[in-house]
Amino acid sequence: MPQPTTSTTFPLRRIRVAAVRPITPRMMRVTFGGDALSGLRLTGPDQQVKLYFPRRERTEPVLPAPDPDGDVMRWYTAYAAIPEAERPWMRSYTVRAHDPGAATVDIDFFLHGEDGEGEEGGEGPATRWARAARPGDTLGMFGPSDHFAQPVTVGTADWTLLVADGCSLPALATIAEALPPGHRALAFVQVPDAAEQQPPATAGELTVHWLHGDASVEDAVRAAALPSGRPYVWLAGEAGAVRALRRHLVEERGYDKRAVDFTGYWRRRLTQDDAPTPEDLAEARERLEAAGGGGGAA
Ligand SMILES: Cc1cc2nc3c(=O)[nH]c(=O)nc-3n(C[C@H](O)[C@H](O)[C@H](O)COP(=O)(O)OP(=O)(O)OC[C@H]3O[C@@H](n4cnc5c(N)ncnc54)[C@H](O)[C@@H]3O)c2cc1C
Repeated sequence: MPQPTTSTTFPLRRIRVAAVRPITPRMMRVTFGGDALSGLRLTGPDQQVKLYFPRRERTEPVLPAPDPDGDVMRWYTAYAAIPEAERPWMRSYTVRAHDPGAATVDIDFFLHGEDGEGEEGGEGPATRWARAARPGDTLGMFGPSDHFAQPVTVGTADWTLLVADGCSLPALATIAEALPPGHRALAFVQVPDAAEQQPPATAGELTVHWLHGDASVEDAVRAAALPSGRPYVWLAGEAGAVRALRRHLVEERGYDKRAVDFTGYWRRRLTQDDAPTPEDLAEARERLEAAGGGGGAA
């Protein structure tokens, strides 16, 4: 799968909310526009971006100017040097849809936090922002970029296994949309309740198993009679759950670990500002190895 072509310019943009629409009780679709989005090209599903959210008293994030030499590390060092009280929060999201004609992108925000986990009733700054988003609000967006893109080899194996939760359902939906006609695929998706089920559009032969509340995806996959043949596996969701599932597939079912893409999208009781745990670092090392020494970290 080709990678997004954004390397000729520094992939940092200011994006402005054009429309906000709840698509389920817990999923808010935000359409962003702005001159900066004209010329954006995406060349595959599962395109992640880093969004920069303004501190509460500001309407726009304060960000360093794009690096003139395209040096991402130098730009990131300048970002990290902004005093904490002003430094925008950085969170990872997925481009759910792109309309090149209108120069807009849609991003779906899963509104977590009603279970009271974490600070301030469980929401973080990204979710708080999404609940209150209004046309005209402005964010920074870095990417899509080869610096953290991971190629999704859709439809090249005999069959595909997709596993997601509420916040990785938007990314799963982009992969489902890219499945070739008739390609056999299974998905296990854990959402809070039936109101959050969004059946993905696809040309593939996709069967989705919906799990609700605290039902364990790992248990569901363990109990499943999975097809024979060479699989491609894509796992995304809570980091511990994703690791456990990967272990099951590689160590117990004997799947080739190079065929298992896995990404921890969030960590229990930790925000995306918190330092990586030893397990996160081990995962990042494995992903680097799997990518042949380059790129690939979430
Ligand atoms: C590559 C990638 C792509 C992603 N794409 C999307 C996307 O398209 N849409 C989307 O909604 N999310 C997406 N995520 C997940 C999103 O980045 C996290 O959920 C992020 O933590 C949200 O930021 P926050 O400021 O709301 O919460 P944080 O400040 O990071 O965390 C606050 C508290 O909320 C808890 N928490 C965080 N996320 C969740 C969750 N999903 N469910 C339950 N509790 C949670 C944390 O454990 C913590 O206690 C993606 C993540 C990655 C790595």
